[in-house]
Amino acid sequence: MTSFLAKRGTRRAVAIAAATAIATGTLLAAGAAVGQSAFVADSHRLSGDQAGAVRQAIKGGKAKNVILLIGDGMGDSEITVARNYQYGAAGRIPGIDALPLTGSYTTYSVYKDGVNKGKPDYVTDSAASGTGWATGTKSYDGAISVDIDGNPLPTLLEIAKANGLRTGDVSTAEIQDATPAVQVAHVGDRGCYGPDSAACGADALASGGRGSISEQLLDTRADVVLGGGLASFQQTAKAGAWKGSTLLQQATARGYRIVTDAAGLAGVAKADQTTPLLGLFAPGNFPTRYAATTATVGGANTPITCTANPGRLSTKLSLASLTTKAIDLLRSSKKNDKGFFLQVEGASIDKRDHSADACGQIGETIDLDEAVQAALAFAKKDGNTLVLVTADHAHTSQIVDSTPPTALSTGLVTADGTVMKVSYGTSAAGGSQQHTGAQVRIAGYGPGAANVVGLTDQTDTFGTIVRTLGLRTDASGHGTPGHGTPGHGAPGHGTPGHGQGGDRR
Ligand SMILES: [Zn+2]
Repeated sequence: MTSFLAKRGTRRAVAIAAATAIATGTLLAAGAAVGQSAFVADSHRLSGDQAGAVRQAIKGGKAKNVILLIGDGMGDSEITVARNYQYGAAGRIPGIDALPLTGSYTTYSVYKDGVNKGKPDYVTDSAASGTGWATGTKSYDGAISVDIDGNPLPTLLEIAKANGLRTGDVSTAEIQDATPAVQVAHVGDRGCYGPDSAACGADALASGGRGSISEQLLDTRADVVLGGGLASFQQTAKAGAWKGSTLLQQATARGYRIVTDAAGLAGVAKADQTTPLLGLFAPGNFPTRYAATTATVGGANTPITCTANPGRLSTKLSLASLTTKAIDLLRSSKKNDKGFFLQVEGASIDKRDHSADACGQIGETIDLDEAVQAALAFAKKDGNTLVLVTADHAHTSQIVDSTPPTALSTGLVTADGTVMKVSYGTSAAGGSQQHTGAQVRIAGYGPGAANVVGLTDQTDTFGTIVRTLGLRTDASGHGTPGHGTPGHGAPGHGTPGHGQGGDRR
């Protein structure tokens, strides 16, 4: 008995010594093969039982402020691609990966007409998905906060404003693009950017509608609007009270403060209903953080690293900087302040994914994450703010093991010093890669964040924010079908240009 125990003890000691030697040997071999960067990372992400930490993260009741951050097209695949490249496979994305409560949500849209009217369309575009969380109602691809019959639906931003909250809408896209537009406008076709847009159809002021997205944005009058899309505001109103004036002239006449560069933005200390802020920092979409790369058939066999885009705007206009500025302008130290609702979009994760541009999408994911970090820093200090981070739909890019024989691909040398192969397989070279229909991640911090845990639908996000802010939904002036909108609700509802083969924007 004694000798058996002794023997077993010896064997265990010998085994540990052998394992240590093997591990050391492996480490040295790896180090010799790839130089300084080789190390065996600790892959564990948990430091023990998390029950206490999760319990502590769950806060019921109301929040004074909500910051909703959207990574357009930021599916789990896009998050993992960015993490692997920038921080390594065992690394953490500082903002997105720090959110304590996480779930998934479904994103499908519904068909507008035909025999499948109202039935699930498994792959949504940004317009229908944004309409989902902005209004709590599913709609069709291309819809900007209207239902499948074209009726306007009150949005979170409009409802928050009607309840006395301060409001903001920030994006790296043209501010008329679907995700920022769903909070401030109601049109049947997302392409209705300005008075010159042919897509407006019956929504045009000249047709008796409520006007283009840009014109409705001015009517909605959020306190803070920051993004691209200056070009559409240079168009001239064709009808209505401001006929003959450009939208910029109209905005000025209606009390908006317009800024178009970092210095102008830095000079703004206040934004409210008397003088709302309209920051338009690019004619169209913002240039991306990383220079564009192009996936090709066989491309993953020639690995690359990402480089800075020399055309990027000043970091004073980065999404994080705009988010911080918006928060500074919307927050108030007044005792009876009602709080704020702010939506922030990192738009070009999606746009670069459409273009099979791995470095582009990675840079935009990192950019969004810096905005998440800014929002979290405020929320942690404030203690009364819900931060939600999610995507509007999944997208094409996939991490694959070997170079795909027929699909486009890019190989990237990651922070680990190894090669990650990313495949784009939903369009041919030069075409627009497609959105995909998988559920996406939603994560949160603060009061109300527990409502994202498990599986929800993106329309549930509307209810979560309304409840958490304690908003009355009958106060926005919308919400009744018809809503005095000539041109709406009619069968056919003239939406030329709709029905494109997948979202191309
Ligand atoms: Zn898209």
